[in-house]
Amino acid sequence: MIQRPKGTKDLLPADTVKWQFIESKIKTVLENYAFNEIRVPVFEHTELFLRGVGETTDVVQKEMYTFKDKGDRSITLRPEGTAGVVRAYIENGMASLPSPIKLWYNITAYRYENVQKGRLREFHQIGAELIGTNNYMADAELITMANEIFRSLNIQDIKLEINSIGCPVCRAKYQEALKEYIGKNLDKYCSDCKNRFEKNPMRILDCKVENCKEYNKNAPVILDYLCEECKEHFEKVQETLQECNIKYEINPKIVRGLDYYTKTVFEFIDEEEGLTVLAGGRYDGLVKELEGQDTPAVGFALGMERLLELFDKYNENIEVKKPEIFVATIGEEANKYGTRLVQKLRAEGKYVVKDITGKGLNAQFKYANKIGAKYVITLGDDEIKNKVAKLKNMETGEEEEYNIE
Ligand code: ATP
Ligand code: MG
Repeated sequence: MIQRPKGTKDLLPADTVKWQFIESKIKTVLENYAFNEIRVPVFEHTELFLRGVGETTDVVQKEMYTFKDKGDRSITLRPEGTAGVVRAYIENGMASLPSPIKLWYNITAYRYENVQKGRLREFHQIGAELIGTNNYMADAELITMANEIFRSLNIQDIKLEINSIGCPVCRAKYQEALKEYIGKNLDKYCSDCKNRFEKNPMRILDCKVENCKEYNKNAPVILDYLCEECKEHFEKVQETLQECNIKYEINPKIVRGLDYYTKTVFEFIDEEEGLTVLAGGRYDGLVKELEGQDTPAVGFALGMERLLELFDKYNENIEVKKPEIFVATIGEEANKYGTRLVQKLRAEGKYVVKDITGKGLNAQFKYANKIGAKYVITLGDDEIKNKVAKLKNMETGEEEEYNIE
């Protein structure tokens, strides 16, 4: 038997009802914050991610699904949403729309990862991007919105950690200090990190190799190197969060896995599983990097699979919707009448099911019971002739006669 590829999942109807419930809750929050949905392609030119996500990131170096199409173009299945959304923003001239622009997306994403709990090769993200302002209020509003998503899903135990990773100005000084620290033990780091040392030393802090993590432990943190502007920005973000009564912790070690971040970065963490469920931050350099006008932005993405684990912990199971009426028929005339009847009821927006197997009445009742129909109406020759039929309440067993017209 052909099986699904490693790191992918099938969502069966019992799962999709839960997904749809969660998606609709999140959509309500996003729309209440005036975010509008954007849909972008599953695949893009590889170069978009090389430039957008960053050549020295794990995502680009190890995790991308990249292939040549039949026209010999290098194509990549999106490993995340932001690069594609920003490309669409630039390509469609959205800069001329009233600014700031607020966009959200619900996507599948693809990364060739070591498959484990909360780490798949095809996974789902819902994300939001706020493009067009460098004001701290945008960072704070986005974090507040993320917080509201968890609240609306009744998820209680989730920890918010924030940090600032500065701008190119403060980062230059920091990179020097970082190189001095790492340089002492550089021979003990993995080959990827050795490579990153000259190109992008901050990336070393995000390495997942145990040995590298160990040597990174006492590395200098960028918070100590922020310039005045970045410092003030970070303080204002915090003031606003306090104003909104949102609890957070500063974690100076957050650097995030993608290169485009600047200033504020944040993560909502499921402490029990030790997994980040929602992550994001400011990315003031990305629009320009992708050849748009220099435009600041801030965004986040949440992982649906990880969110689901948390949702289950705090919520009752959500069941597949059950039909109101099952129409059981015996004989040709009754069948014809029944077919017209369900068509009419469905046109009125009723959830009704009719036998379409031609099985006996007993089998029809058994099926109606199994699919959880609330009522069964039985139609036979007599019922059609007399225009009267019985409607059985499947919960109580009570029967009542109705005029079938
Ligand atoms: P991590 O450090 O856990 O690998 P990341 O920095 O690669 O995370 P982002 O690219 O910021 O993660 O993605 C945002 C969110 O998307 C994550 O917080 C997580 O919930 C989800 N996510 C990322 N990669 C995966 C994956 N392979 N499988 C399932 N969910 C994922
Ligand atoms: Mg990752």
